[in-house]
Amino acid sequence: MSVNINRRTFLTGTAAAAASFALAACGGSNTSSSAAGSSAGSASEAGSSAQASYKLVTPGKLTIAAELGFAPFEYIDEGSTDPVGFDVDLIKAVAQKMGLEAEYLPNQAFDTLVPLIKQGGKADVAIAGITITDDRKEEVDFTDPYLDSNQGLIVKADSAETQESLNDASKKVACQAGTTGEEWIKENIPDCTVVPLADVTASLEGVTTGLYDAFVIDLPVASNMISQSFKDLKVALEIPTGEQYGIIVSKDNPELTKALNEALAAVKEDGTQDEIETKWFGSVISQ
Ligand code: GLN
Repeated sequence: MSVNINRRTFLTGTAAAAASFALAACGGSNTSSSAAGSSAGSASEAGSSAQASYKLVTPGKLTIAAELGFAPFEYIDEGSTDPVGFDVDLIKAVAQKMGLEAEYLPNQAFDTLVPLIKQGGKADVAIAGITITDDRKEEVDFTDPYLDSNQGLIVKADSAETQESLNDASKKVACQAGTTGEEWIKENIPDCTVVPLADVTASLEGVTTGLYDAFVIDLPVASNMISQSFKDLKVALEIPTGEQYGIIVSKDNPELTKALNEALAAVKEDGTQDEIETKWFGSVISQ
């Protein structure tokens, strides 16, 4: 019971923060809080047939699972409890198009997201910079891609380590457990000692202190973390993996995937996604 009360308080704060962000970032655009109601209304008209056929954990809400230590896509500012970031703004805009309220579950480890969505019952979707891969597609459905990404190899700023020099059992290369970064290390630095970890910030601290020789993570996160908080680290290698992010949905809920795809197309078409990209990346980066 207390969990429910907390979530409600949390949502009120999030909605208010989102509205003021929208106003600050987008001026007189249609994403202001007062326009939210009318746009949700028209979206639910457009999506009413789909809405009848998809399942939701909680009616009227899109319940979202994420690993919330992946800035600038999803993270929690110090002293706050509200997730913020590119994915957070995007999924809120998508939910709004569907006439739903976006509600985040507490932080989940990245490698639990696919099993959690597959199992069902806790969250309707997961969005967390999740790369669309064939292996994951066997477990869950993905929406259409919403953003392109690559990997980055991070080392200390004064380090001379390269992909070749790291390819030795004495070298510890860390990654977030269950990520495409982990896969890349296993395939491309096969002789190193791979260290899968849960938390990106703790991993970067480990590189700073010399506990790990390198860390592989999605390039936008690598660049963001280094410029914001880890100035003693650098991206030694940009790895053009050509990944694409998608939202994951249970295979038992294909109508939800369909409705999400329609809403994603709508936020792209009406310029909302461009505004969110500009807010978080300084310019429009998707095609
Ligand atoms: N894009 C990577 C993957 O899907 C990393 C995602 C993450 O750590 N949140 O594996």
